[in-house]
Amino acid sequence: MKAETYPKIKIEKTTNSKINELDFNNLPFGKYNSDHMFVSDYKDGKWQNPRVIPFQNISLDPSAKIFHYGQSVFEGMKAYKDENGKILLFRPLENQKRINISSKRLAIPEFPETFFMEGLKALLKLDSDWIPTKDGSSLYIRPFVFATGNGFHASPSNEYKFIIACSPSGAYFGGKVKVLIEQKYSRSANGGVGYAKAGGNYAGQFYPTNLAIEKGYQQVIWTDDTTHEYIEEAGAMNIFMRIGDTLITAPTSERILDGITRKSIIEIAKDEGINVEVRRITVSELVEAAENGTLKEMFGAGTAAVISPIAGFGFKDTDYDLPELEETFAARLKKRITDIQYNRAEDKFGWRMEVK
Ligand SMILES: *Cc1c(COP(=O)(O)O)cnc(C)c1O
Repeated sequence: MKAETYPKIKIEKTTNSKINELDFNNLPFGKYNSDHMFVSDYKDGKWQNPRVIPFQNISLDPSAKIFHYGQSVFEGMKAYKDENGKILLFRPLENQKRINISSKRLAIPEFPETFFMEGLKALLKLDSDWIPTKDGSSLYIRPFVFATGNGFHASPSNEYKFIIACSPSGAYFGGKVKVLIEQKYSRSANGGVGYAKAGGNYAGQFYPTNLAIEKGYQQVIWTDDTTHEYIEEAGAMNIFMRIGDTLITAPTSERILDGITRKSIIEIAKDEGINVEVRRITVSELVEAAENGTLKEMFGAGTAAVISPIAGFGFKDTDYDLPELEETFAARLKKRITDIQYNRAEDKFGWRMEVK
């Protein structure tokens, strides 16, 4: 869609800002919302009525397709403020492209790039005071699309809403996690929707994750659905393993989400001179490396936590602990990527985008 055909975004400011209710020094992740949200409707075959309005409830008919057939996709991104107050995004066009890849798989109409970026910028300019500046904090941004059309007939909706909501957030969580290598359940399958950020993928993860939590783990390592031999993802994050001094991650596929953090880490690691292998890796290889002491690190990678270190893993009733290292790839790579995000370092890859 050409810029000149883009309808003007209507802006309705809140008369009741909640910003003073917030303790910016004590922010949980994803709990509170900023004052406004961006909304656009899909009706009569086109996206229309882009607007920034006060954050508010949505009213839907009980037969709305989202409730019955789960047509919903989302994105997760962040806005950062540097020490001079500049508002920065990290590779936002990747999120814009990916939400449409997800939408397509769920038979949801794609959202035009200009709508996405202009809507996001308008929202961020209005809610710029909601971007926290404390180290590790950011404004978490949640674009999402869902089916609002009515009727119990199992068919794609002819109406949708696209919304961007924001949540001022502290660092995701501290501490290392113990993970369980899943041998029964799967989060995705060949030909399925695993590569899409579809709401239902996460619903399907909760039950097996709860079972792992009951056994004393915090997270599940997903393996391939056919053999449960290949390591694929860590919860809702991509997974990295360090064996010796080589960093290994599974190749993306129709079962694995193509994470922006993952691909950024691959590029940064290579730039750091770290040997990176993007290849399939079996549970047996991981167990063998843990047993012979060459398994040095494992970590999850995703926008929310950036990098989430793993303390050890369980596999078939045996627990394997990872060593406590003084210097980790996880810490080094997290520093490199967050320094770029917060404008504390040169951005040689051209990943930052300033919102002006
Ligand atoms: C969102 C997500 C990721 C991480 O993607 P980022 O773009 O790095 O945030 C990884 N795996 C799954 C299943 C996800 O939903």
